[in-house]
Amino acid sequence: MQKNHVMFKKIFITLLTVIASFSTKAQTVNSTQKPKLVVGIVVDQMRYDYLTRFYNKFGEGGFKRMMNEGFNCKNHHFNYIPTKTGPGHASVYTGTTPKYHGVIGNDWYDKYEQKMVYCAEDDSVQSVGTTSSDGKMSPHRMQTTTFSDENRLFTQMKGKTIGVSIKDRGAILPAGHTANAAYWFRGKSEGKFISSTYYINDLPEWVKDFNASKAVKSYLKEWNTLQNIETYTESGADLNEFEGGFRGKETATFPYDLKKLSKINGGFDILKATPYGNSVVIDFAIAALKGENLGKDTITDVLTVSFSSTDYVGHNFGVNSKEVEDTYIRLDKDLERFFKTLDAQVGEGEYTVFLSADHGAVDVPSYLQDVNIPAGYLNNKETKAKFSAFLMDTFGVDNLIENISNDQIFLNHNAVKDLNKTLAEVEAAIVNELITYKNVYKVYAATTMHNNDFTSGMEELLQKGYSQKRSGDVLIIPSPNYISYSKTGSTHGSGYKYDTHVPLLLFGKGIKHGETLQKTVIPDIAPTMSALLGISFPNGATGQPLEFVLD
Ligand SMILES: [Zn+2]
Repeated sequence: MQKNHVMFKKIFITLLTVIASFSTKAQTVNSTQKPKLVVGIVVDQMRYDYLTRFYNKFGEGGFKRMMNEGFNCKNHHFNYIPTKTGPGHASVYTGTTPKYHGVIGNDWYDKYEQKMVYCAEDDSVQSVGTTSSDGKMSPHRMQTTTFSDENRLFTQMKGKTIGVSIKDRGAILPAGHTANAAYWFRGKSEGKFISSTYYINDLPEWVKDFNASKAVKSYLKEWNTLQNIETYTESGADLNEFEGGFRGKETATFPYDLKKLSKINGGFDILKATPYGNSVVIDFAIAALKGENLGKDTITDVLTVSFSSTDYVGHNFGVNSKEVEDTYIRLDKDLERFFKTLDAQVGEGEYTVFLSADHGAVDVPSYLQDVNIPAGYLNNKETKAKFSAFLMDTFGVDNLIENISNDQIFLNHNAVKDLNKTLAEVEAAIVNELITYKNVYKVYAATTMHNNDFTSGMEELLQKGYSQKRSGDVLIIPSPNYISYSKTGSTHGSGYKYDTHVPLLLFGKGIKHGETLQKTVIPDIAPTMSALLGISFPNGATGQPLEFVLD
């Protein structure tokens, strides 16, 4: 009897433990344990090695805080071509690639409308806060949902979403289809944040107040290096032949008198191409936090912040410039200021932040040539003339090409029909011709994309960037380090590692401390956020939640 009693007691205790563990599991996504705010940060054109190259210049409260408190995915990549801003922002927030979200470039040729279109333009809406047409924008060309859309659906539209950036597409695509609002910067003579009637009919008071303040104007001042330029040993000489610079200043060297230079460099637009563009975005993001009461209750809000100035500076001065180094040292300071405000406004440990990029960038090819690395510039004019002659010789017509853009050829399908040849035959002839051209690395027909399932290499990247509905008929990959660009400054767009390898840092509520060299990809970010929040994945998500970063 006594023995039975002990055994019963044991079974009872085991049962209790099992029940208790079930209830803890169930609680992992209950509302009190969710972050009050998710902040998504995308740094335009940030290569992974900027974290390591400038590490010793960073303070403790910015990038290093994310690394020291949070999780560092050190082998994080874009997994598609083209690595550009529109596709990048869409992919981070939808958890998939252009193949599914449909943002195949910043601009692309619309086969049905038979014209070039811009990823965020929308003629059916009006500008808000400006008389210019810069506000006629929306995310309508993005075909799938973002994790912030899913958060809106899950919370019965109670969790807010606000998007902020210098670039319209950097604000609009991350914020998704259901955002309360997205705000982007209008330069020229205005220097203020604007929006579109897609979201709101009038700017809220806090935005009007911000625009009326001297916040933006105060940055039209001198841009000199934050620290002694002699200590900037992580970059090349300030004066060299690989940098663009500003109109009205002979050399691309510090210091820059922005107030003076603004007069012949697009007014407030000059701020976009300086680190102060990032400071303006932080100022505005802080105003949004307060103005919208973000992270003030247990229903999760989402704030997306994209820094575009890093991209403008990179395009102008190049990966190896002192200007890029100074921009990241200053961004680090701005991030520290932002995180401190989040601690005060939302509460330390009550919010979650991730930081990544929309693409990397290539070293200036003329510099690479100087140090004997294969690199160069594509002569598109010469190539086009040779290609036209080939088409005439082979098919006897001059109307086969409808458009060439984003390294893709769009064929005139009616003209192909008139030749009594199949599309596949014409594609194959073009592929065989183009692959013989100098600095063409690979060429694929759309038919090949349809009939194969690539799981590695450039072919996989090309396929994941290929939209059956929107992409062209022949896809071209230029040789490594070959770009269509000026001989100064950096650009991006390829599937090479310099364009695909970017940071992924996460910290705050629900995030473990650690790091990995295991490969992770951009589309993993959104499903990870969905898993953290216990909500549905974005509807086209192809990435996997990164279980090892979650607490
Ligand atoms: Zn760019």
